[in-house]
Amino acid sequence: MKENVNMNLLQTKQCARCGETKARSEFGPNMRHADRLESKCKRCNAAVARERYMKKRAEGGLPQGPSRPRRPLPEFTRDAGWRLRKDIERIERVFADDRFAANKQQVAAHLSGHLRYTAEVCQDLLSRLQRMTGE
Ligand SMILES: [Zn+2]
Repeated sequence: MKENVNMNLLQTKQCARCGETKARSEFGPNMRHADRLESKCKRCNAAVARERYMKKRAEGGLPQGPSRPRRPLPEFTRDAGWRLRKDIERIERVFADDRFAANKQQVAAHLSGHLRYTAEVCQDLLSRLQRMTGE
């Protein structure tokens, strides 16, 4: 148990695939792991998924035909941004709910990890945006 706590305090983690030591925000969530993070970094997980997809496609295991055109990125981003806002507003309403006080222990157990993860990723994405655009 003590070890789990210490792992959560570490700001970096080594990827099991590429071996690079990266910020915790570079790893997706996995609630089954002691440190609540995937063992592979996001980039490696995406690469593994891509390889699996290409292999399956090469074996003919996927429906043929032209793939669906992708939505323009600005449009996709705008919708995803609104969904993110709506979701965090739903979570905010939980705190204002009249049943909150009686359920706060369970609410905290369900929510703390997700909030911490989301806050880390949001902060990381914001810094990257600021560095790229100077805004
Ligand atoms: Zn990696």
